[in-house]
Amino acid sequence: MRKTCLNIDSLRTTLRWSIVFPILAAVVLFAVKTGRAQDAETARPFGLVIHGGAGSISKDRITPEREAAYQAKLQEAIEAGYAILEGGGSSFDAVETTINIMEDSPLFNAGKGAVFSNDGTNEMDASIMDGRTLNAGAVASIKHIKNPISLARLVLENSPHVMLVGAGAEEFGAEHGIEKVSNYYFFTDRRWKSLQRTIAKQDSLNKAASEAGTPAKAASTEKGTVGCAALDKQGNLAAGTSTGGLTNKRWGRVGDSPIIGAGTYANNATCAVSGTGQGEYFMRLLVAHDIHARMFYQNKALADAAKEVIHGELTKLGGAGGIISIDKNGNIAMTFNTAGMFRGYRTNSQPVTVQMYGEE
Ligand code: ASP
Repeated sequence: MRKTCLNIDSLRTTLRWSIVFPILAAVVLFAVKTGRAQDAETARPFGLVIHGGAGSISKDRITPEREAAYQAKLQEAIEAGYAILEGGGSSFDAVETTINIMEDSPLFNAGKGAVFSNDGTNEMDASIMDGRTLNAGAVASIKHIKNPISLARLVLENSPHVMLVGAGAEEFGAEHGIEKVSNYYFFTDRRWKSLQRTIAKQDSLNKAASEAGTPAKAASTEKGTVGCAALDKQGNLAAGTSTGGLTNKRWGRVGDSPIIGAGTYANNATCAVSGTGQGEYFMRLLVAHDIHARMFYQNKALADAAKEVIHGELTKLGGAGGIISIDKNGNIAMTFNTAGMFRGYRTNSQPVTVQMYGEE
């Protein structure tokens, strides 16, 4: 009798275990798998870096109110782009959205805050590049499109061309539903006064040069071009740049910002780069592509490649400016040879950071 009871008891225990064990095993397996998936998620880097122009930006030249306004707008732009990347969106979308926010702000020399050419109009340039396909779109001498970076994207996505300029570019945009605005939309009092000051400075430089019998130097002007480089969760890089160019530039002048390889470059094999500074120097050095090339052919780290190009080649040639870049592993570079550069970044492993002045 006792023996029978024992047998039934052990049978029950065996039965219980045969049910509980597979469940326990399944739970443990699930936890391990989820953990691994989360690890993979955090191990895959993503993020973005932006600039709002490089130049003589120093604490004694900016009021606390302006400093706060720049800080807030740069942060807003970074967070908007980061939200797209965090939600699994493309680096390409993040670049366009981030730049649109800066183009719509009068603080930056792009879109609404664009500087004036010597004929008193605003002429803008922009470009965007997809590091996965190496497709690129660019526009130059734009006068009536609110967001030139979106027109550049349209050129990439809806035309067989890389660059369209002037009236042809604007007509192409209108055919694809991009609204035209009056050139007066881009008028800001601050930039108008800046044009007047630059004209006066240039006149006195010209006079001094003709008296000395030497070639006249170009008066230095305000900077504020905007750019963004991003890496998404899929490992795709993209870069974009949008600008009003240089104050008092000759109308029709085009700088580096819409030139693929000069002001903008992205390649999934290396990095995405956007530049800001004296376009005439960036164009001749193909600054953005040179950084990629040093990484691609010489296996250089992003920080070293950027340093060599900005503090080496650009400085040697006499050019001023800087770049922002993110590489395929999520490393960030913000390198410039000017007093300051409006800049900031956020990645999956680094919180939002905004900086303006030299070494911070
Ligand atoms: N690179 C722009 C240009 O030369 C200007 C700037 O970045 O401030 O048009």
